[in-house]
Amino acid sequence: MTYQYDLFVIGAGSGGVRAARMSATFGAKVAIAEDRYYGGTCVNVGCVPKKLFVYASHFAEEFETARSFGWTTDNARFDWHKLLTNKNREIERLNGVYKHILEGAGVEIMDGHATIVDEHTIGINGEKITAERILIATGGWPSVPDFPGKEHVITSNEAFFLNHLPERIVVVGGGYIAVEFTGIFHGLGMDTTLVYRGPLFMRGFDRDLREVLADEMRKKGIKLLFDTNIERIEKKGHQYIAHPTNHQSLITDLIMYATGRTPNTKNIGLENVNIKLNNHGAVIVNDYYQTTVSSIYAIGDVTDRVNLTPVALAEGMVLARYLFDKQNAAVDYSDIPTCVFSQPNLATVGLTEEQAREKYGEVVIYKLKFKPMKLSLTDSDERTFMKLIVDKISDRVVGVHMVGSDAGEIIQGIAIALKAGATKATFDATIGIHPTAAEEFVTMRTPADK
Ligand code: FAD
Ligand code: NDP
Repeated sequence: MTYQYDLFVIGAGSGGVRAARMSATFGAKVAIAEDRYYGGTCVNVGCVPKKLFVYASHFAEEFETARSFGWTTDNARFDWHKLLTNKNREIERLNGVYKHILEGAGVEIMDGHATIVDEHTIGINGEKITAERILIATGGWPSVPDFPGKEHVITSNEAFFLNHLPERIVVVGGGYIAVEFTGIFHGLGMDTTLVYRGPLFMRGFDRDLREVLADEMRKKGIKLLFDTNIERIEKKGHQYIAHPTNHQSLITDLIMYATGRTPNTKNIGLENVNIKLNNHGAVIVNDYYQTTVSSIYAIGDVTDRVNLTPVALAEGMVLARYLFDKQNAAVDYSDIPTCVFSQPNLATVGLTEEQAREKYGEVVIYKLKFKPMKLSLTDSDERTFMKLIVDKISDRVVGVHMVGSDAGEIIQGIAIALKAGATKATFDATIGIHPTAAEEFVTMRTPADK
């Protein structure tokens, strides 16, 4: 049987674009459908605009620091609409870049909502198209739990397009998005409260990092309410009243929920084929990203494994190689570095102390807390925190963690060392770059418990 395309990709986000482009480069005939925005979540309502907002919100502290170096910054003022306009212009440029990249690789672009009709057929804009293989790369969507007053809250999707910045905000959640947006709103001058249901946010990260970040955020004046659930929310005029379980009511101007994301598996025709989903609604795939239907594959957030752009990109790359370049490559999911763009940044690679103790038994821990040199002329009491975890028997460094300015930039380089199997002796033999914060990672000599 002949098909119109070798590969039909549903969703032009991080994973879909990479898989489509690389497959076409390897000689496959490829089409891609996108119903919302080219570049997907990351470019439009994720990594990119988020990082621009983080930069914008950090200027308040930068001006403060600048004053200690002799600058006068008295007339500094912030214009939200200007930021939105400039951000939107940059995103539009990137949308064009993504379309251009696809066209340049010879991928056929189809604007519209695609659904799976059968194992080899896709429906889009009233047309039926056949493909030897179909790739589901439809990403995820914010999920808000059910409770009375749910209709009053916004999610990160809306936070990128607010008409104006109110004075107060409550952010609910204790993961990446909640922590990053809390920093953004606070930096832009809003009275910001984070509400999290557990005893300490950023579950899954090294405990020291979570504690240090909580301390640093509190020092800035951010209110953190842990062990707290919101039971209901009511609207009174222009205000919202959130009723928590164990705290007095919170009166605020805006409430944002950042309580996780759900894989986009609804309304894409999965009922027409026998694709199995897990308990969270994510598409189940094997090691080759093949779903339970052999001609249909899935990558990225829709499979809900490691929901990060570089992972979706790597999966797209590996799948294209596997299908059209006869290469049996695989994504290595170990030691994936990650950065939470909180203020200060939290970045990490490898195991937490808890995981390392469980896996290796005896581990040696090195920790350091210091005032960053850039703040040495200021009254700021912000501290940088670094931690190394070493397997005692092999001397291999198995976890590196940091809370501090530019932690993401620093940990990216260290992740290469971990991937290469660096030992503590390798770290010790590495000459530092002075004066930097990063050099402290190669000068820690005394174990924390000594
Ligand atoms: P997506 O990028 O979500 O792309 C899916 C695409 O499919 C979308 O464009 C959608 O419109 C389209 N689509 C869906 N259904 C259909 C259909 N039926 N027909 C046609 N098109 C369809 N990750 C990082 O690594 N670093 C960060 O700093 C970071 N920050 C983030 C901040 C926020 C606020 C959020 C929400 C996420 C962030 N992420 C970050 C995660 C990152 O954005 C995702 O992991 C990544 O975008 C996943 O790529 P994907 O290709 O799986 O899906
Ligand atoms: P996360 O999974 O990171 O965090 C969700 C948070 O919401 C957790 O604290 C969770 O609590 C809490 N939560 C879940 N359900 C409820 C509920 N019913 N009531 C109250 N709280 C609840 O999701 P995010 O939405 O923050 O981000 C989605 C993903 O996007 C991230 O996991 C990450 O993969 C990616 N991302 C990456 C970024 C980066 O690389 N810098 C930035 C932003 C997003 P608990 O811990 O108790 O389960």
